[in-house]
Amino acid sequence: MVLRIGVDDTDSLRGMCTTFLATELVRDLTKTWDLIGFPRLVRLNPNIPWKTRGNGAICVRIGHGRGRPHVVGWIDGSEVRAFPHGEGIEDSHTVADRVAALVERWSRFEDPGTNPGFVVLRAAPPEHLYWTGVRSVLTMDEVLRGIGPGALVRPYKNGRGVIGAVAATAWRPHDRTYEILTYRREGAWGTHRLLSRESVIQMDRKFPSTFNNYDYEAGRIVLAPRTPCPVLFGIRGDDSKLLRPAMEMIRGEVPDRWLILETNQGTDDHVVRERPSAPHRTVRFRGQVRSLPWTIRGGHVLFSVDSHTVAAYEPSKGFRGIVRGLVPGDTVEIVGAVRPDWGTVNLEKLRVDSLAPVTRKVGNPVCPQCMRRAKSRGRGAGFRCEICRRHFLNSSAEAIPVPRTLAPGWYEPPAGSRRHLSLPLKRWENGSSPIRRRSQSSG
Ligand code: ATP
Repeated sequence: MVLRIGVDDTDSLRGMCTTFLATELVRDLTKTWDLIGFPRLVRLNPNIPWKTRGNGAICVRIGHGRGRPHVVGWIDGSEVRAFPHGEGIEDSHTVADRVAALVERWSRFEDPGTNPGFVVLRAAPPEHLYWTGVRSVLTMDEVLRGIGPGALVRPYKNGRGVIGAVAATAWRPHDRTYEILTYRREGAWGTHRLLSRESVIQMDRKFPSTFNNYDYEAGRIVLAPRTPCPVLFGIRGDDSKLLRPAMEMIRGEVPDRWLILETNQGTDDHVVRERPSAPHRTVRFRGQVRSLPWTIRGGHVLFSVDSHTVAAYEPSKGFRGIVRGLVPGDTVEIVGAVRPDWGTVNLEKLRVDSLAPVTRKVGNPVCPQCMRRAKSRGRGAGFRCEICRRHFLNSSAEAIPVPRTLAPGWYEPPAGSRRHLSLPLKRWENGSSPIRRRSQSSG
């Protein structure tokens, strides 16, 4: 059996990145064994309060390679290759010792929130551990019960990283994307990243199967992190073969190494079709807009859908303009994360299903007998003809339709404020997501 290595929770906000550790694992382990398939970056529940940033764990599969290898990276001046199939390694303890040396070398143990853990498994754990890990909350017991005999489990500190490590090894991709991650030489970590904006825009236009590269609304490069981590930039896309030429178009600081990872980013795997009830979940539901949107301090825009409050936060910028165009009576489909405090749904995507008619009053009703305009009897009290005393309802006022600023369809925040797991609409438009039909026909 091919060995599956899962690792999580090695970094802190002050530095490092679990994907850099993936490059170190690949660098070291491929001196002795072969890489089987792409290394994987598996994002887990984005609503877990104890995550550092993007709740990402890694999974690397190694064995004795079979079939024709393909290039998946460049480290220490040489190409890294992965095999499509492989045969097993008997001695998983030696593998675990090599992994331990790297986890211990690179983890930020000094950070109180960093609790590394890794596993070396002979078989993939049950798939439900991935789905619970990406959509809900897993316990350590559940995870340890799920892994088979012969599994090597190495927790550090409180060992919480083992949860993400197992969930990552349990992923069997239904939908998948790829990310080419480039890294800086160690001396440059923490310094300003110099990348050419024009080259990012050119690359984005030349490779439409890539996504989340550039925020055209804010004029900001999105493919490079703003943290002091070792990543220089990452390009996400549907076609793994196009990522290397896409990377080669980016001008500026030269990457020291790079690696292509298979990921669940941009798949909406975290989304559950249910109405908001439990916190820490990302839900998708349909309903009717019940209030005009209102803006609160900080520029966040809120509105009600049935009995739920939905929020488009300030960083979603122009997306709030879409939300402000809603009126009571519109029907919508909401994708968003349920906040633990007030149960507010933090909007990730919005579909306008149908638009309620909006009219503007232009005059009081005309009495058909006297041919004179009736007089208002006060707010909400209708009208009365002053000559024949006949009553008219409010709805009989003369009104004209007001054109709506919104059209039915899906809307999403700009690239810079999307979640890693959120399926970008571009993937539907390109037809690259296998869940396209299901998602569209459902509404
Ligand atoms: P980065 O993205 O920068 O690598 P991170 O955001 O992945 O960091 P971690 O430091 O890995 O954050 O912390 C996440 C922790 O939460 C890990 O210990 C992981 O095992 C645990 N965890 C992840 N998903 C779940 C889940 N669904 N249920 C319970 N624990 C989880």
